[in-house]
Parts: sequence; C-alpha cells; structure tokens
Amino acid sequence: AMSEDIDLNDCVRSALVIARNNIKDKAEVISQLGDLPRIPCAPSQINQVLLNLFNNAAQAMEGFGRILVKTWADDGAVLISVQDSGKGMPPEVLAKIFDPFFTTKPVGQGTGLGLSISFKIIQDHGGSIRVASEPGRGTRFLIRLPRPQAPH
Ligand code: ADP
Ligand code: MG
Repeated sequence: AMSEDIDLNDCVRSALVIARNNIKDKAEVISQLGDLPRIPCAPSQINQVLLNLFNNAAQAMEGFGRILVKTWADDGAVLISVQDSGKGMPPEVLAKIFDPFFTTKPVGQGTGLGLSISFKIIQDHGGSIRVASEPGRGTRFLIRLPRPQAPH
C-alpha cells in the first residue's frame, strides 16, 4: 500500500537481505538500528531506495570495506544513515549524482537512475536525502523522513 505505518528498521533489514549477495564479497555490514516510531510510507519504495544505496556502496569498494547503517529518530523525523568506506567521489561527480542517467559505471553496469529515482521517492515522502563524500575515504548518505506531528 502507498502509506502504511512502517517501522523503517524492517525496510533496512529486508533491503540488506536482498543486497547481501552483492555485498558479501565487498564489505562487512555494521547495523546500528535504534528504536523508531512507525511512520507512514510506501515500504516497497523505501526498499528500492535502500537497495540502491547498499548496492552503490558495495560497488564503490576498492578492496574489502565496511558499510555502516544507522537509524535513529529525533522530534521531527526518522533518520537513516548509510556510510561506506569506498572510493568516495570528487566534487564534479558529487554535483551530478542525482541527475537522471548520470553514471560513472561501465556500460551495462549502471543505468544512472538509482539516485534520481531515490531523490524523487524521498521527496514524495516529504523527506530529504543528503550526501557527503571524500575521495579515497568514503561516502555517507543521510535520509530524513518526517514524523507525523501530533495535532495541537
Ligand atoms: P548507477 O548506480 O546506476 O551508476 P546511481 O544513480 O545509483 O546510478 O548513482 C550515480 C553515480 O553516483 C554512480 O555511478 C557513482 O558514480 C556515484 N555514486 C553513488 N553512490 C556512490 C557511493 N556510495 N560511492 C561512490 N560513488 C557513488
Ligand atoms: Mg545505483
């Protein structure tokens, strides 16, 4: 359904199960999943976003690395951080990653649609997706999805 009340940790766990085969030879995954309030969202869409983040992280590895997944909540939002120890991105790449069809991957390996679709999905949920990256050190994506506010 478009908007059930979902525990986003369930989305994280199921996306990790699906991504496992792509990740297992590339990185160890460390999950630090905090207690979350349920929020209205489309779980299949959030799964798609997380799957792309995990696959991108695995594909960014040079040698065996680490993917750190954290969830937590603050007063206004549920937050999901996906941090990798991969090759990172120079500013000219970082500037384009949310553009449709932008990819640095070989032909046939990347459509360049993952992050543009993810951006749209998170925007449709009223949230935001931010990224920080350092060449040679890694990349961190931070997704913020708003909590419904109690009426006052
Ligand atoms: P695709 O994975 O098909 O290339 P995406 O939209 O998912 O398309 O990502 C676009 C580009 O952003 C990638 O080709 C890559 O250059 C860059 N990118 C995304 N995630 C990462 C990451 N975790 N580390 C390094 N580069 C990344
Ligand atoms: Mg991708």
